[in-house]
Amino acid sequence: MSKARLVNVAVPLPVEGALTYLVPEDLPLPEPGIRVRVPVGRRQMVGIVTGDAKEADSKGFKLRKLYGFIDQTPLIPAQLIDFLLWIADYYFYPPGLVFSEALPPGFLSPKDAAISRLIKKGSKPGKSRFTPENLAVSSDIKLTDDQSAAVSSIKKTIFNNSYSPILLHGVTGSGKTEVYLRAASSCLESGRSVLVMVPEIAMTAQTTGWFSSRFGDLLSVLHSGMTVAQRRDQWWRIRTGKSPVVVGTRSAIFSPLDDLGLIIVDEEHDPSYKQSDKLRYNARDMALVLGKRFNATVVLGSATPSLSSYKNAISGKYRLLRLPERITGRSLPAVEIIDRREEEKKLSGAGYKKKSISGKDAWLTPRLETAIKETVERGEQVILFLNRRGFATYIFCRECGYVFRCRNCDITMTWHRALNKKSHASQKALPGASGYLKCHYCGFETVALPACPSCGGTAVKALGFGTEKVEEEIKGRFPYIRSARIDRDTVSSTKRLNSIISDFRSRRLDLIVGTQMITKGHDFPGLTLVGILWADLGLNVPEFNAAERTFQLITQVAGRAGRGNAPGRVLVQTWMADHFAIETASKQDYETFFKKEAALRQELKYAPFARMINFKISGARKAAVMDASAKLAKMARELASGSFKADILGPAPAPRARIKNRYRSQMLIKGTALSQVRGLCSAILEKKDKVVPSSVRVEVDVDPENML
Ligand code: ADP
Ligand code: ZN
Repeated sequence: MSKARLVNVAVPLPVEGALTYLVPEDLPLPEPGIRVRVPVGRRQMVGIVTGDAKEADSKGFKLRKLYGFIDQTPLIPAQLIDFLLWIADYYFYPPGLVFSEALPPGFLSPKDAAISRLIKKGSKPGKSRFTPENLAVSSDIKLTDDQSAAVSSIKKTIFNNSYSPILLHGVTGSGKTEVYLRAASSCLESGRSVLVMVPEIAMTAQTTGWFSSRFGDLLSVLHSGMTVAQRRDQWWRIRTGKSPVVVGTRSAIFSPLDDLGLIIVDEEHDPSYKQSDKLRYNARDMALVLGKRFNATVVLGSATPSLSSYKNAISGKYRLLRLPERITGRSLPAVEIIDRREEEKKLSGAGYKKKSISGKDAWLTPRLETAIKETVERGEQVILFLNRRGFATYIFCRECGYVFRCRNCDITMTWHRALNKKSHASQKALPGASGYLKCHYCGFETVALPACPSCGGTAVKALGFGTEKVEEEIKGRFPYIRSARIDRDTVSSTKRLNSIISDFRSRRLDLIVGTQMITKGHDFPGLTLVGILWADLGLNVPEFNAAERTFQLITQVAGRAGRGNAPGRVLVQTWMADHFAIETASKQDYETFFKKEAALRQELKYAPFARMINFKISGARKAAVMDASAKLAKMARELASGSFKADILGPAPAPRARIKNRYRSQMLIKGTALSQVRGLCSAILEKKDKVVPSSVRVEVDVDPENML
């Protein structure tokens, strides 16, 4: 009897593995990476052949024949198939859905003809055919000694053709980009391709710009702001070997590059490398996995490395390269902490009653106010950083205590004073009120009311402040200062952001108020004062990595100051002046921060000293969610006892217990051995349907970074 002609096919459905099909006698056996048309139930779907199959793969289902091939040669390179299957396994995510998230839209749609048109246009998938001669490597920058040492070290590992992870720990303004550029040139010269990951394209336009001027046509840029057609074109350019250098945001990790020699992850600590829904992958971690598969060099660069990367660097798992100083002649900015508690005492001693400068609702201390004035008067520039949008964080009724909350979420509504033109053009604000209330979780908006919906009273009061209020008060207090605001409310497009950035660079603006959008890699030569308005804002959230994020944000935003010829100054306003994250960030003292934070995490058994998997349980009915969570946890404990070395925490309602009308609870599994934690997770997932009804959703977050 001849061997059964069976293949596994990944179809974009929430099923655990690939599906198995018979290949009709009149067709050859398709290679992995070829798209095929297959029957699924009564539907016809497009799937990707992932490999040959055995009879047993069909799991007892009746085998059906596939209908036919879409591609003649593999559209998806074999390397990428293996990598995506690995990802599906690691993140406990259906392989077909990994494919549909990783590939440009339309690849798996039965009707899409665009990609076929591209293929017909001539180029064939394959290796890059560029010759190293057409490289624009010329650069008139003379490297510093530290940069030279880093570059030659990276070059050496590239030529070794073996997996070499490197952490490049360089302070802000130490010239990491130039190191990346030289390393990328070397890699291209050796005939291998390069992947450069950046946190957010809009925020890193400068870095992208450097790469495009150095590599021109050899470069492809990939980011989420592109149209579907652009994404397909770039994908196809990469697939056909026309652009051996790719710069992109997290999803660029899925690009079909061939023969990778170097992967660079710029600002490797950045939270945007982790996708927070659906396939919850971390592109920084996947860069290491990919690097290993290609025997490539992986450079993780940051001034504030993630705890996990630094831990690996000092344990010798990664090689550690340092750029401890800024580019010659420039020093790190002087950071001064303004202790708001001390300040309050002084103010009350001096008989201050003015609400605008005293109390938790005041955002500007006299010291920062003076510094802003002096800086602008000298013709220099200011950035004010506050990681919170809007005008007021919450609104309540002073008569009955009613707090305006989102109807879909357990979240207070943020007051925005400026009317949102798009959604409120036709809605006139009521007399006595202005602007709108918005939920920052689900986006629900409502026009601001002048009266309390509960008691009808008019003593409605706004508390807290956000970037909108700061900007408005700056304009009121200092009419001569030319200011702008950068946050998600004002900057809806990359174009708008670029125009503000370019106005600031060319000194048409004196001051920018912004959220974390302004903390990333920008280089503003005229910027000499950075004011951090509320440094401890992110410290009191129930996240295991709150201190790490706070340290990173403060250090990064402080690092924007004094990158030109004039020295920089940073004023840090805080209510928690003696918190170690704030103290060490003001001294730009990474080592001390690391030691303290590492000790705490080790004690509490949190990542990176434990492996963690978070189960997120949600549903429309609270009782059903609570009940399913309790049963799931009970089952998890039974499965674990005696069989797996892992701790189970919870279930507990998520800190944000209801979002978008779904009640949420969670259960955290952690342990020191990955295999144990994963083993338990598989066992739970295998049996979960026995205790969880279909109305309750269970999602898995491997290596979680955000537990809210
Ligand atoms: P980082 O990413 O480490 O914060 P950048 O790469 O943005 O720093 O470099 C800071 C500035 O220094 C940039 O304007 C860059 O062009 C410049 N620069 C980098 N290397 C050199 C060098 N060797 N000599 C002079 N200027 C340099
Ligand atoms: Zn909401």
